[in-house]
Amino acid sequence: MEYLKVVEAYQKIQATTKRLAITETLVNLLKETPPRIIDKTVYLTQGKLHPDYEGIELGMAEKLVIRSIAAALMIEPAKIEVGYKKEGDLGTAALQLFQSQKIAKLSSGKLTIERVYDELDRIARVSGKGSVDSKIKGLTEILSQASPEEAMYITRMAMGRLRLGVADMTILDALAIALGGGKNNRPLLERAYNLCSDLGYVARVLAERGLDALKEFQVTVGRPIRPMLAERLNDPQEILDKMGGEAAAEYKYDGLRMQCHSSIGSVKLFSRRLEDITSQFPDIQGLVRDGGRAKEFIVEGEAVPVNLETGELLPFQLISQRRGRKYELDRMIEEIPISFFAFDVLYVDGVDYTQRPYPERRDKLESLIKIQGERLTLAHQVIAKSAEKMEDFMEHAIEDGCEGIVAKSIKPDSVYKAGARGWTWIKYKREYKSEMQDTVDLTVVGAFAGRGRRGGKYGALLMAAYDKKVDVFRTVTKLGSGFKDEDLEKLQKLLEPYKIPHKHARVDSKLVPDVWFVPAVVLEVAGSEITLSPIHTAAWDKVRKDAGLAIRFPRFTGKYRDDKEPEQSTTIEEILEMYHKQLKKVKEQSSTA
Ligand code: AMP
Repeated sequence: MEYLKVVEAYQKIQATTKRLAITETLVNLLKETPPRIIDKTVYLTQGKLHPDYEGIELGMAEKLVIRSIAAALMIEPAKIEVGYKKEGDLGTAALQLFQSQKIAKLSSGKLTIERVYDELDRIARVSGKGSVDSKIKGLTEILSQASPEEAMYITRMAMGRLRLGVADMTILDALAIALGGGKNNRPLLERAYNLCSDLGYVARVLAERGLDALKEFQVTVGRPIRPMLAERLNDPQEILDKMGGEAAAEYKYDGLRMQCHSSIGSVKLFSRRLEDITSQFPDIQGLVRDGGRAKEFIVEGEAVPVNLETGELLPFQLISQRRGRKYELDRMIEEIPISFFAFDVLYVDGVDYTQRPYPERRDKLESLIKIQGERLTLAHQVIAKSAEKMEDFMEHAIEDGCEGIVAKSIKPDSVYKAGARGWTWIKYKREYKSEMQDTVDLTVVGAFAGRGRRGGKYGALLMAAYDKKVDVFRTVTKLGSGFKDEDLEKLQKLLEPYKIPHKHARVDSKLVPDVWFVPAVVLEVAGSEITLSPIHTAAWDKVRKDAGLAIRFPRFTGKYRDDKEPEQSTTIEEILEMYHKQLKKVKEQSSTA
């Protein structure tokens, strides 16, 4: 089929102001397209060559596209640059230059959809030595046979900027009308799309094998499933009411969502946007490969940076340092270790679990995953039947470095709704957050034994603020980050003389460390925020009943405050004041992870 047909449809789409006219134009185009190339036509219309997860992208550099146009028209590149500057769009500049060359009539109708698609695909894939010349040569060849209008769209495609503004959902509508027996069958098409995230493939199956084949569509290992999303509420009672009085409450880990597809030892990882991110996370790949009791499975979970010496979760931002890295990956894997918290299972050995209720999926997940310490484990979960229980779980979640909780329906209809945001998952995040701008000086009152590289040394220190009124040290954080090797050695010696076999009488703590100290050593600590805490005793009952305040993501700044007496540590009043002063409403950000 002629490429011109596609171009004519694009022109109509761009000329109209009516949504329905877009669908109608697409319906006509799809009806006319032979089934064999309908996938290519759909990808081109999306401005792509393949589904996103395959990661094959067009996006030739401007300079190369200019050189190709120049070669096709046999003019100087400078002439094209002038037109580009004037129009601001290289496609429009190409259109005008091709028109002025008066070759429109001669060329139109020569190019087929296959020819354009296959050449663009070759250009997208070619790499290594000589690839620049090869890309220019390929693009020049198709442009030489193009009409001005075709040249405009080919130019835009080559740069990866087609920008027709046609939504996937509009293409699904058009497919349903053109080939699926009418718009009322659209949900069937959408279901198939949600299960494979590949619109071209859905179109081709529909065109070649009909609607029944789409009904039979199955989850397939290797093809990412469009992720289920959560609604948001800020009142635990309201959440419970929506879910019929009880729900599974889970920690909402703040990391990177990953969908892991494992097939006989080979693992692929997809991001929430369904990009293939396998090569960036060989550590997670290994964990998943060895971590499932099945030949083939698909699990979802959150990857979170972790301090392996203390088991603490670390701020999400750290993981972004791992993204997009090709070099030094080994060093990054060591420096920023990541834990994987599995929270759903979609497929195991021939069984599609997406249609099973959540409790059954969670049971399957528990029997599937071989827990490997804190590296590979399941999302922490409780069944909550009261708002109090949910609120308490929320505080523990924040204390443990999470963003909040996700409540999940456990009713019989709690299936995995691929690609949909619904009330079967409700996230509950904090509305307010107290960002910490200043450092504080805290007194060491206890220590926890280290693990891994910190075996035999202290892993984390229990730190306290001073309650002046009653002369008591109340705990406010567990400090495990920011220590260099020399600090660990030094602290061991520094604290040795203050060791005591029980809690000091002037210390108020709910936590029981491995070693207690006489309050004596003061350290400077930075943190990301001050949060309510069910564990730390600083400002207990002051902001909320049965909760104290804690410093989240604490870090030793490197400063030993040996100039300060413990009684000169930051006071509880100061921590309270910081909490109130720095309280800000948390913006609703659509999480990109
Ligand atoms: P949202 O993306 O805003 O709809 O919130 C849901 C996101 O929370 C998911 O995309 C996951 O990345 C993340 N998340 C963290 N922990 C969990 C969990 N236990 N269950 C579901 N999602 C989780």
